[in-house]
Amino acid sequence: MLELLEMLSSQEYHKNVLNALKEQDPQIYKLITREYERLQNTLQLIAAENQCSQAVLAALGSIVQNKTTEGFPGARFHGGCEIVDNIENIAASRARETFGAQYANVQPHSGTSANQIVITAILEKDDTILSLGMDQGGHVSHGANVSFSGKYFKVYNYNVNKDSFLLDYDAIKAMAIAFKPKLIICGATAYSRTIDFKKFREIAERVGAYLLADISHIAGLVIAGAHPSPVNYAHFTTTSTYKPGGPRGGLILMGHDFDRKITVGGKELPLWKLIDKATFPGVQGTPYLNNIAAKAVFFNETLTEQYRARQFKIIENAKRLASNLADMNYDVLTGGTDNHMVLINISNLRDGMTGLIAQQCLEECGIIINMNKLPYDNKNAKVTSGIRLGTPIVTKNGMGHGEIDTISALTDTVLRKVKILSESKYEIDDSTRDEIREKVRQLCSKFPLC
Ligand SMILES: *Cc1c(COP(=O)(O)O)cnc(C)c1O
Repeated sequence: MLELLEMLSSQEYHKNVLNALKEQDPQIYKLITREYERLQNTLQLIAAENQCSQAVLAALGSIVQNKTTEGFPGARFHGGCEIVDNIENIAASRARETFGAQYANVQPHSGTSANQIVITAILEKDDTILSLGMDQGGHVSHGANVSFSGKYFKVYNYNVNKDSFLLDYDAIKAMAIAFKPKLIICGATAYSRTIDFKKFREIAERVGAYLLADISHIAGLVIAGAHPSPVNYAHFTTTSTYKPGGPRGGLILMGHDFDRKITVGGKELPLWKLIDKATFPGVQGTPYLNNIAAKAVFFNETLTEQYRARQFKIIENAKRLASNLADMNYDVLTGGTDNHMVLINISNLRDGMTGLIAQQCLEECGIIINMNKLPYDNKNAKVTSGIRLGTPIVTKNGMGHGEIDTISALTDTVLRKVKILSESKYEIDDSTRDEIREKVRQLCSKFPLC
């Protein structure tokens, strides 16, 4: 009887979570409600965003968040860890299964933290990194001088080819031979073509470097086999967990090399142990166990056929978007896409057009994209020549080719009609804005958030 009562009261606890917010803090409750409405009534085309399931949200908002502990399952520094140990073990095991990995570390707080853990595990101060420059589509945590990764290490950047905007593996190899990096990083935030991880590993082997593949943007595609997997080519694979559609957070994976021995300070350690130690106590304290619970939920979703099939659909939609826009005379970088994103040199559409104007006028009309610096961009980072569009969220909500055609046409109408006043100022007439907004709202209303 007592047990039943306890069970009922704990269920009440869960159910009351949202009500508690509503009653205790109506101001924030209302803002969260408005964010739901914004997401429902506008088109989310930011390539770095995705939409997690309700089950993932429930785990994120659960009382597991209250547990404090340090260390890894079975070797924690606080009592009361039996249940969270179980949760973390399940999350790691599902992540290994999802990616076909030998080792998965679900503790990194973010994609950036995952990179920080790998970099600090492997490198000593002043060691050398070779990575794709941030202005070429790389990520800030790959050695940009404003980041920890650029501050304490010597960084050389490779570029994409100036004409094709593609990775040039011969040029990367030549740089690796010249600079003898200890770590080579591949992976990008703005690259719409397939990355050849095998070639990167060959280059790393040639110069005795470690290879880190950061697949944050393409992790979902890798899971589905819609993009080749680096897990057994790279020594370390990292990803953010929200970009493939899970909770905010990071993940570190290792394949064949997970137990390769390395000598550090006279002691021999397997690589995975080095990563564990760099995670805690190296870079982080208590892991976010609610996020880890949510990662467990997500890495069960990623094992389903439904999730995997959707990744192919995301690419089909991106290809459709790229070809529609190319047909309308947009300058699509590399002429198309192999993944979920489309990069466009918008400054070639009209005189004076910038990424900033495109982003802002589209947002006024309910189409959410982001401006993006392009390789060899001649515009400054505040306005950019480029925009980046992505299809994960519209695809998640069920949109297909017909809707992509509508989105292409609406986007084109806005970008042709906007009056350009300077590189950051524009005007769009009220009737155009209201008409497009309403069309966007009607389109979105047929595809409820899911
Ligand atoms: C998004 C991204 C990250 C950072 O992930 P956060 O969780 O936002 O810190 C790292 N690397 C690449 C390539 C990314 O696209």
